[in-house]
Amino acid sequence: MNLSDLAWPAVAGLSKDMPVVIPVAACEQHGYHLPVFTDSLLLGEIVRRIAAKVDSQVLFAPLLWLGNSDHHLDFPGTVSAPPRVYLDTLIGLAENFIQHGFRRLVFLNGHGGNDTPGRQAIFELRQRHRERDDLLFLFATYWSLGASPQEGAFAQREMGHACEWETSMMLRLAPHLVGDFQHAAPVEFGTPFTPAARGWITRERSVIGHIGEPHLATAEKGEALFSRFAADVESMLQRVIAWDGKSWNG
Ligand SMILES: [Zn+2]
Repeated sequence: MNLSDLAWPAVAGLSKDMPVVIPVAACEQHGYHLPVFTDSLLLGEIVRRIAAKVDSQVLFAPLLWLGNSDHHLDFPGTVSAPPRVYLDTLIGLAENFIQHGFRRLVFLNGHGGNDTPGRQAIFELRQRHRERDDLLFLFATYWSLGASPQEGAFAQREMGHACEWETSMMLRLAPHLVGDFQHAAPVEFGTPFTPAARGWITRERSVIGHIGEPHLATAEKGEALFSRFAADVESMLQRVIAWDGKSWNG
């Protein structure tokens, strides 16, 4: 069910073992051919698909479209919560639901830049509430919950940016918002000092803004990705629903 549809007494009456899903995405540049709201639109579609499957068992918070996108700020249209503001925003959101009695909180992520502050947020939340043994904090990025799509004709083996995967899903979801992707030149992922992690901003990797191979996108690939990712998220949520409320394993 959607939090936004409920009056407060209805929220008060919910089981506090009901998982709360907080979708978090972004509003940031997605190259020449995709709109800045791409991450939020795609995550919204994932949520719509899984809500139809688990509607009575999960409470969905409204999607938080403001993400941590500072690395894209050289591109107009990007709006971003600075990393520490974003970290505190996620912690504050979680604290609100804890105050209302909920115990199983899942940040469902649709933007790579949210990953580091999101993991830090759940780490800090667990330390803050270390006297509690009944809390579950998860941060889950929808394209990282299963094996990489190997089947079919996918060229990419990982998520890029405004890439084969995202452009395909946008072609499936909102083709009227997709620009000239057929002539977008491939942008390599590169190997920046791996396996070390390098701090980066987007324009040093791509002057256009995309990373990957958007010219290979099709709506059929988009449907395959949506189906796969929605199934991965649903099975993760089923594990959260089935959790016994105290075990380490889940
Ligand atoms: Zn994106």
